[in-house]
Amino acid sequence: MKKYTFYFIVGSQHLYGEETLKEVNAHAETMADGFNSDASIPCTVKYLPCVTTSKGIEEAIAGANNDPSCAGVITWMHTFSPSKMWIAGLSKLMKPYLHLNTQFNRDVPWNSIDMDFMNLNQSAHGDREHGYITARMGIKRTVIAGHWENEEFRQQIGVWMRAAVGVFESRKTRVLRISDNMRSVAVTDGDKVEAQMKFGWEIEHYGVGDIIAELEKVTDAEVDALMAEYAEKYTLATDNTDAVRYQAKEEIAIEKFMKAHDFTAFHTNFEDLQGLKQLPGLASQDLMAKGYGFGAEGDWKVAALTRVLKAMSSDMNGGTAFMEDYTYHFEPGNEMIMGAHMLEVCPTIAQTKPEIKVYPLGIGDREDPARLVFKSKPGKAIVVSLVDMGDGLRMIVNDIECVEQENEMPNLPVSAVLWKPIPSLKVSAEAWIYAGGAHHSVLSYDVTAEMMRYFADMLGIEFVHIGKDTEINSFRKELELNDLIRRLK
Ligand code: MN
Repeated sequence: MKKYTFYFIVGSQHLYGEETLKEVNAHAETMADGFNSDASIPCTVKYLPCVTTSKGIEEAIAGANNDPSCAGVITWMHTFSPSKMWIAGLSKLMKPYLHLNTQFNRDVPWNSIDMDFMNLNQSAHGDREHGYITARMGIKRTVIAGHWENEEFRQQIGVWMRAAVGVFESRKTRVLRISDNMRSVAVTDGDKVEAQMKFGWEIEHYGVGDIIAELEKVTDAEVDALMAEYAEKYTLATDNTDAVRYQAKEEIAIEKFMKAHDFTAFHTNFEDLQGLKQLPGLASQDLMAKGYGFGAEGDWKVAALTRVLKAMSSDMNGGTAFMEDYTYHFEPGNEMIMGAHMLEVCPTIAQTKPEIKVYPLGIGDREDPARLVFKSKPGKAIVVSLVDMGDGLRMIVNDIECVEQENEMPNLPVSAVLWKPIPSLKVSAEAWIYAGGAHHSVLSYDVTAEMMRYFADMLGIEFVHIGKDTEINSFRKELELNDLIRRLK
């Protein structure tokens, strides 16, 4: 995550003399060093000498725009910085933007305070001047207030940075569509032009024949090498090695195709396998573990979103997976959702060592596919869904608590996750369904609702959150207001 840089642009003016500006710079540098050595701030903060003129501000922002490693801009007004100077620069800003309202000194030095101190430490009103111009200009931003050494303040910056990394990686996401959406399904479809305009996703279709042509070129030696990798990571729990080798072949073909065309996510569709002998199961699972986004049944939205959430948390090890709400457990007082898919559950969320198994698959009308089977981790997580409302995109996030999988389920041939939605299955399911949330989602133990809220804010996407404070009637009212706002935009 350190490869992503954030420009720290500190505002001031010439009124206070050169000595004051030197102090401003020294403070800003100390703060940037403090941020960079704190584990709760995952990316690199790049300190710039303070800006004091319209031209200087414009140049700093142009530098951020043009720097391919820059994932966002952080501003702070150490002293007063007249905000008309910021109009030219801010109107050109193209990266996520965080306005910090902080102060170098934590406390007022009661015994020594004089007007020099007051003139140097005046972000209390300098940041209000800055807030006015960004509000007036309608610039998308996040404001975080607090002392710069405070742990919660730093954690919040870290959360915001991960969202900005999501935007950065989202703009580079290319989705390989192997075939189209599953016939007649509504929620997995949507406006790809809108998605590209908002998220930057390039969503490109190829025929299954293109993958089969690649598959026919895969050599036995390549399959042997991938089988050796499987043997290291997974337990081979089948005698049907031919089926496993076929999945390896599919994985190699899909990955080669993605690398050749710069794709970072893909989807399959069981209805359109043509000459493929198995629906990619183990192949899709292992590709997800490598960081590729994935969606089943032609769901390009969830494929791209899985990729983005994996990128936001690439240095974490909780796990992020393509998911589907599958079955309910309605035992009173112990209500749960069982998430799974027909094959493709990402092994990054495994608690037990994944086993490679081969079972028949009723859907898809092909040979028995090899897949990874495991129990999933307990722990706090979220599920995220993205749906196209026709006049805009809506993101729905639910906080969940994944629970220990106590029962063996010996006849279930796939991996599953059991979770208790927050605040309850009843409220969560009603809210999710009122919002039009999909059955496909991204489940993450690393990414939080707060990160996704910042991410949606940065891109101008509607965001609704189902969590501990959700009450169904006010949630429905929020949806109604959001519908209205979308239509007015
Ligand atoms: Mn599905």
